[in-house]
Amino acid sequence: MGLLEEAQRVAAEFEYSAEDVNKGVKEFIRQMDEGLEKTGATMSQIPTYVTAVPNGTEKGLYMAVDLGGTNFRVCSIQLHGNSTFSLTQSKVAIPRELMVAKTSKELFSFLAQQIAEFLKQHHNEHYHSSVRRRATVSQPGGFTEEEIFSLGFTFSFPVHQVGINKGTLIRWTKGFDIPDAVGKDVCQLLQDEIDALHLPVKVAALVNDTVGTLMARSYTSPGKTGTLLGAIFGTGTNGAYVEKLDKVKKLATTEEGGDVDKTTGEMIINTEWGSFDNQLSVLPDTPYDRSLDAESVNPGIQMFEKRISGMFLGEILRRALIKMIKDPEVPLFSDENSSNNDVHSTTCLAHNSPLFEQWGLDTSFLSITAGDSGPGLKVTRQTLDKEYGVSAASSEDAHAVKLIASAVGKRAARLAAVAIGGIVLATNKLAAPKDIATADNETVNEDEIVDIGVDGSLVEFYPDFEEYIREALRETEGIGAHGEKRIRIGIAKDGSGVGAALIALVADKVAKSDA
Ligand code: ADP
Ligand code: MG
Repeated sequence: MGLLEEAQRVAAEFEYSAEDVNKGVKEFIRQMDEGLEKTGATMSQIPTYVTAVPNGTEKGLYMAVDLGGTNFRVCSIQLHGNSTFSLTQSKVAIPRELMVAKTSKELFSFLAQQIAEFLKQHHNEHYHSSVRRRATVSQPGGFTEEEIFSLGFTFSFPVHQVGINKGTLIRWTKGFDIPDAVGKDVCQLLQDEIDALHLPVKVAALVNDTVGTLMARSYTSPGKTGTLLGAIFGTGTNGAYVEKLDKVKKLATTEEGGDVDKTTGEMIINTEWGSFDNQLSVLPDTPYDRSLDAESVNPGIQMFEKRISGMFLGEILRRALIKMIKDPEVPLFSDENSSNNDVHSTTCLAHNSPLFEQWGLDTSFLSITAGDSGPGLKVTRQTLDKEYGVSAASSEDAHAVKLIASAVGKRAARLAAVAIGGIVLATNKLAAPKDIATADNETVNEDEIVDIGVDGSLVEFYPDFEEYIREALRETEGIGAHGEKRIRIGIAKDGSGVGAALIALVADKVAKSDA
């Protein structure tokens, strides 16, 4: 069989039709409702107790840290109060061994050390005056209130939040596995290590990155329109949106329900959509998805995420490529000169190629090949050579790889559209009466816009990710071509940092009004 025919056949396994999208959206809305009604549903639909989004006038200096899935970011944010901010940040890759450390202390003390480094480097004066003060002041804490940085802690794993700076870890995702942290208050774990280093920092707010993205987008987005949804497409995927309080039926049945601020009639809900349809009633399931899941640290969970996000797309592609490489009938990466005599005796693939290792293929490779349209796909071939031990890949090899990579990327974007479309429809945001009267080619008024903030390397760097999402939204019943035009998607750059600062600000206000 020809290589390209075979590649096309594999690529076709990743097709996700308009009909699939519509089935997906209906089921997504059903599982959203289920999660709002009871705890323990597939989609957690976690109430965040944040009942309003910012409008851009907020001010102050705050710190934020973000434990994503790949990196740890530390930043300080000056909110100017006019929808703009200044941000100073540092970023460090989380060592793999800490993701699966024996104790949570190992991970959290590493995080506290990064905060100490950041303070020394960027807020040296503040840091040293605090240190001096600590040496001279007799009271135990040593800091006055104004010397302490309020910090928003963006923690992008499922937590059971029981207060603005208190929440227990439900489970690890994205390849993390430190059993002793499960069930513990992650803010306390971080505060303990901060205190051990005597840093002038108070963990004031626990923030999910999606909520942070939503807040940040709402602070910075143009016009007066509040943002509906914050969505992450990075190492993992998740979304948080503004829901009507009376639809959050499970709040009435939990003890915390009484403390809800009802003035806005709304609450931000963290969907935890990464675990949408863990039962696979509507999600696509190829042999590559199945083996990826079976060999993951959490088989059977985060099934939606495992088909969409940065941690997994490279691995899906890798598994598809390995299947072809191992098939003697398929001449992928085979040495042309000798392949006439003995099909697989020679290959241009090194024995120690990362392609043979789990997680050996990074999702950024999908972006590289998607963006490569040059003659003979030179960039793709060079990357295969430099990063993946494939010397002298032919242009046909590169085309085969690109075909499959694009299919994996496109399916991910269309699945992302299921979540976005589901939330837009479930919240009835397109149901304005104007909708019926407006012709397709008419420009969209500001008050008709449904604003969505997104963040994460995948949506930021994968070429056409947004366009693939939009295509699927146009195919969605109830949205269509006109509805899709009313949906504005904007990158919430540094979303988790600014968002965390905004929630730390809210937490400060609450704490002061309680005092
Ligand atoms: P985090 O999820 O830790 O907040 P990011 O948003 O940067 O961090 O996402 C990191 C993920 O994005 C990794 O899984 C990585 O493989 C993937 N990634 C990094 N660069 C790219 C790129 N250029 N195109 C697509 N995916 C990328
Ligand atoms: Mg992130």
